[in-house]
Amino acid sequence: MELLSVIVPSYNEEENIEDFYEELMKNTAFFQSRELDVEVIYIDDGSKDRTVEKVKELAGKDKRVHLVSFSRNFGKEAAIYAGLQKAKGDYAVLMDCDLQDPPALLPEMFRYIDEGYDSVATRRVTRKGEPPIRSFFARMFYRIMNKISKTEIVDGARDYRLMSRQVVDSILAMAEYNRFTKGIFGWVGYETKWLEYENIERKKGETKWSFWKLFLYSLDGITAFSTVPLAIASFMGVLFCVLAFLMIAFVIVRKLIFGDPTSGWPSLVCIILLCSGVQLFCVGIVGQYLSKTYMEVKKRPIYLVKEEI
Ligand code: UDP
Ligand code: MG
Repeated sequence: MELLSVIVPSYNEEENIEDFYEELMKNTAFFQSRELDVEVIYIDDGSKDRTVEKVKELAGKDKRVHLVSFSRNFGKEAAIYAGLQKAKGDYAVLMDCDLQDPPALLPEMFRYIDEGYDSVATRRVTRKGEPPIRSFFARMFYRIMNKISKTEIVDGARDYRLMSRQVVDSILAMAEYNRFTKGIFGWVGYETKWLEYENIERKKGETKWSFWKLFLYSLDGITAFSTVPLAIASFMGVLFCVLAFLMIAFVIVRKLIFGDPTSGWPSLVCIILLCSGVQLFCVGIVGQYLSKTYMEVKKRPIYLVKEEI
């Protein structure tokens, strides 16, 4: 018998814990025919509702259900990392609690694993049911990201992914504090099969990602997997130096040959404003990387566990 670890990050998902479990167990016949034992690891990411109680109820009924409860909300990335650390399976699969990642896809995923793929990933081909500006910014993010990063980050990729033990261990070896899982998956490589499906809307409850949270997350992604913005800062510095030299030459030549008095403070003010603006912008970019380095150097734990079953 091989073991499959199902990792479910859950943050305020009291309505979904049981539904998810039932939906997953609809695969029981498949698990038996594939000779798979299953463990379900719910990671409670500091929920403020009855998520923990719901998981405990389930764990009381079914020994295969485990709970890892964080001391506060550490974010989905931390939950994924904790889940992968706790997983004992020969395979691990990451799934959202809200049934946007259909467990019914598991038999198909295992077909590809048995064909020899190391991991099977999913991407949604539509963004149906999402606000248009959100889709617009998401598309822009992926376009920019893939231009400036060597790591491939797939548009519409979900975190729903089935992995072999080898892939799990590789991901765990990346113990960085600023975790951007979509980039980490691309970075570790391995033979990956992509499955596509239409976006499924959340069954119950609300999305935990506000626009602002997503925006900050995208900045994390950029700084974690690209240093191109730093190069842009240097490039702008050089560009403006060259411009300044040309302007100095122009002013001197005009004075010497035509005797024009150097006049016009408005133009000066404009130049000073522009240059100091660019400088601040570039210092800001450097600051972004510095702050990430700072957090990384502190070596704080990625998550803290309050309770475990
Ligand atoms: N989640 C989490 N911690 C967070 C935010 C979300 O563990 O800080 C979990 C959440 O419970 C869900 C999954 O991550 O199982 C995806 O969240 P959500 O459905 O809100 O995101 P969306 O599908 O809208 O991108
Ligand atoms: Mg969701």
